[in-house]
Amino acid sequence: MPGYELFGAEERKEVNDVLETGIMMRYGFDGPRKGIWKAKELEQAICDKLNVSHTQLASSGTAALTTAMAALGLGAGDEIIMPTFTFVASFESVFSVGATPVLVDVDDTLTLDPKAVEAAITPRTKAVMPVHMCGAMADLDALQAICKKHNLFLLEDACQSFGASYKGKALGTIGDAGTFSFDFVKTITCAEGGAIVTNNKDIYTKCDGYTDHGHDHLGVDRGADLHPFIGYNYRISELHAAVGLAQVRKLDTFLEIQRKTKKIFKDALAAVPGVTFRRLPDEAGDSATFLSFFLPETAQAAKAAAAMKAAGLAAFHYYDNNWHYIRQWQHFKEGAVLTPFAAGLKQAMEVYKTKEFPASDAIIGRNISTPINLGWSDAEIQERAAKLVQAVKSAL
Ligand SMILES: *Cc1c(COP(=O)(O)O)cnc(C)c1O
Repeated sequence: MPGYELFGAEERKEVNDVLETGIMMRYGFDGPRKGIWKAKELEQAICDKLNVSHTQLASSGTAALTTAMAALGLGAGDEIIMPTFTFVASFESVFSVGATPVLVDVDDTLTLDPKAVEAAITPRTKAVMPVHMCGAMADLDALQAICKKHNLFLLEDACQSFGASYKGKALGTIGDAGTFSFDFVKTITCAEGGAIVTNNKDIYTKCDGYTDHGHDHLGVDRGADLHPFIGYNYRISELHAAVGLAQVRKLDTFLEIQRKTKKIFKDALAAVPGVTFRRLPDEAGDSATFLSFFLPETAQAAKAAAAMKAAGLAAFHYYDNNWHYIRQWQHFKEGAVLTPFAAGLKQAMEVYKTKEFPASDAIIGRNISTPINLGWSDAEIQERAAKLVQAVKSAL
């Protein structure tokens, strides 16, 4: 990770196919496009790769999440259970459909603690949204059982985990719907882009229309399409899809490099007393984009992250960052949206101004995640592993 590191002739070739016809729109222009349909081709490639029946591309992962929520019929008055640790896009999407985000604690899987989910269910709960953070999976068996028992949708935010799996099934394909991001720093990139995957034809059809002004795509041309519901423009362009097509073909290579490199770092760090690792409900399915580990105390993690950065290593101590953990989400706690909230939603957000999450603090405070890059030489990997061990030891 990230896919942009291995960008080359393959991406340029796919983009040039589009530039040669000049048709950069994914729909219509059937004659002039001369049989070039990069978005459709990428959708099929994702279906084949992940073994899922339907893929709908979108302009971003955020747009994909919003679209998935709309397709599941989530909106005003509905509560969506999500983790305190995620990227801000997850709750932005909940707000964008007018639903209420209900944040609950994470456990050592770095995402939803099933017990916390069960405790947060109310008569208004409609969906549970685990976020498969840093390339690996939530405890999906437990979450799926809760969703079945309470008749809730399971929506997987797999934006950070394209190519990861759980018990042989691709992440994103296990719930009612799953989403991916192909932004510039994700596992594979389109520059900007995203996707919704589902095995449910009705959900897919709604996603297909919602991302394109509600077009049913059944007319002889765009002018003849009907609009069974209101949609928006969350389309991907042919240029972006072309980049993604070259990237998805490289996915297996990316995963192989990441898994091999991560094992070297993990083995080196495992020898340091006091270090423990993120719990992976299915280690074989880890896409290995990050190595996530814990130190005994939050202060030690902060110190180790600083030492890693000083040694030239990338280190995320998410506890102190503005993007991924509730502690610093002031705008979320204030409900600071530009458009008026429904009165009930504003009230529902009040609780976060004072609510504490000690269980999440104890996990995220002690966690450090370090990204696994694709372009490192073997010598560089060994050197980095040694620096990692030294930096962590210096904080203990
Ligand atoms: C990146 C990301 C998104 C949003 O994707 P964009 O393509 O950047 O809009 C959503 N959720 C998570 C967990 C992400 O990491």
